[in-house]
Amino acid sequence: MSPSQMGPERVAEVLDHARSARGFMPPDEGRALYENAAAVGSSGLNGPWLEVGSYCGKSACYLGAAAEQAGRLIFAVDHHRGSEENQMGWDHHEPDLVDPTVGRMDTLPLFRRTIYDAGLEGTVVAVVGDSPSVAAVWSTPLALLFIDGGHGTEPAHRDYEGWVPHLAVGGTLMIHDVFPDPVDGGRPPYEIWCRAIDSGAFIEVDVVGSLRVLRRTGPGS
Ligand code: SAH
Ligand code: MG
Repeated sequence: MSPSQMGPERVAEVLDHARSARGFMPPDEGRALYENAAAVGSSGLNGPWLEVGSYCGKSACYLGAAAEQAGRLIFAVDHHRGSEENQMGWDHHEPDLVDPTVGRMDTLPLFRRTIYDAGLEGTVVAVVGDSPSVAAVWSTPLALLFIDGGHGTEPAHRDYEGWVPHLAVGGTLMIHDVFPDPVDGGRPPYEIWCRAIDSGAFIEVDVVGSLRVLRRTGPGS
């Protein structure tokens, strides 16, 4: 479907898929993902979009609804082996996502199914691999970057350092699970949000729950 043919019914259909998909994105924050991405889509800023941390494809559907509408591609980077916090014995472990033959998590089959069901196979491009390794060889300036990968100190900071330099001036940076109060959750996503703000190269344009949306106003990270 070309972008011009995509009416409100199709957007609503994709957003319904997003809401019912498995994953870690509350409906109000997902809606904000979609709306901020749609604003990027109509802003005229060229360049592909990219998310780090796709899991079973839930956030990719929210972003994909806006990407399809704007005729953009969104790259969805994940090794699909789960973050530290998804492994056995941790808070966010889901045992049925373990591949019994390999003995490790594998969210790729569910991701693929989610994207297929939502009709987004032409819009969401899976990149299956380690985020910093992919970032190291990436060269296309991004109009939108969504960071929701590993939430440990090292993974979060490596995602920041690897991907933020690829965000075009005028581009939108979204960071999930930003909890200024440690009582609410882990600190690393908040720390990378602080890095962005402290760099002086970003202004905050939206906050919904733990989702922070920033716009790049200048070079530097
Ligand atoms: N955005 C998702 C949730 C992401 S959970 C949703 O809407 O539900 C975090 C994801 O980051 C996991 O799927 C995990 O496999 C991925 N991840 C963690 N570290 C990674 C790394 N170094 N490279 C690629 N993916 C990584
Ligand atoms: Mg998250």
